[in-house]
Amino acid sequence: MNKYIKLPGLIDIHVHLRDPGQTHKEDFHSGSVAALAGGITTVFDMPNNLKPVFTKHVLEEKLEIAAQKSACNFGLYFGTNGENISEFEGIYDKVVGLKVYLSETTGKYTVTDEEKIQKIFASWICPKPIVVHAEGKKADLAIKYARDFKRKLHVAHVSTAEELDQVLEAKKSGMPISCEVTPHHLFLTDKDLDRLKGYGLVKPPLATRKDQDYLWAHINEIDCVASDHAPHTMEEKESDTKYFGMPGLETLLPLLLTAVHEGRMCMDDIVRMTNTNPQRIFDFKQNEGNIVEVDPEFEFEIKNENLKTKSGWSPFEGKTLNGKITNVQVKL
Ligand SMILES: [Zn+2]
Repeated sequence: MNKYIKLPGLIDIHVHLRDPGQTHKEDFHSGSVAALAGGITTVFDMPNNLKPVFTKHVLEEKLEIAAQKSACNFGLYFGTNGENISEFEGIYDKVVGLKVYLSETTGKYTVTDEEKIQKIFASWICPKPIVVHAEGKKADLAIKYARDFKRKLHVAHVSTAEELDQVLEAKKSGMPISCEVTPHHLFLTDKDLDRLKGYGLVKPPLATRKDQDYLWAHINEIDCVASDHAPHTMEEKESDTKYFGMPGLETLLPLLLTAVHEGRMCMDDIVRMTNTNPQRIFDFKQNEGNIVEVDPEFEFEIKNENLKTKSGWSPFEGKTLNGKITNVQVKL
């Protein structure tokens, strides 16, 4: 029997490739090569660049850069701080969705004024999802306005039982809502911070073991897994300044394959959470020629020196995983 398994190329709906603006951390070339090394054939890149993607002009500049440098398929998000609503109309067909930061994040993107939040939801006249960074109780606000204006809502990086319950409850009411979890919230907890120090800083923060158990207990009800690949250099991570975020493109699939190996999920869950659901939620059609081949039993150790990400490190360094990517076919 062939020991290799073929899966549809993964779609990672949440990455920060830092291009343009912070290409010392990553760029569209290095980031997309890291994606392919991780079996990911499509990435959706977030708009919180140094120059935020708040206008059609900035979006078009970034599209051009991505088209020139990316080795894999990509989609871009548009961003908003509530002051650029007049730009919406011109960009609907150029993006995969709208990203709104309701919680504090890197850079000045957070929208806290409720009137502005309401206006954003009222003005996004598009079937593509509004993706929210909404920690703790903040998700409730997004759910309220998504319901009022009948918008498709996707909650990024759900990390606690409280956040997941808000999403699952809204789901039960029949509204079009989905969510993602990250591998670092599935495989690391706040206990790892002692060991990881600055490398473990991320938003939302690594949660408790109890929260992590809750995510695993409800894995069947969670729509997507996304890396939230947010690279910083080792020098930055070891400095006194706090840099939030960690790279994850190359470890996402091996971690999930290890979870399959351990009987915590099945291969169908991987396909559902990294391919079928991303295509359905974002109404995005990935070419069927995008294939990743894996050896699900192959045991190997994550080593920083083997990574393609420009940042050059992983919070999982030294961890032994089961499931290696042996081949990737990408159709652009
Ligand atoms: Zn992010």
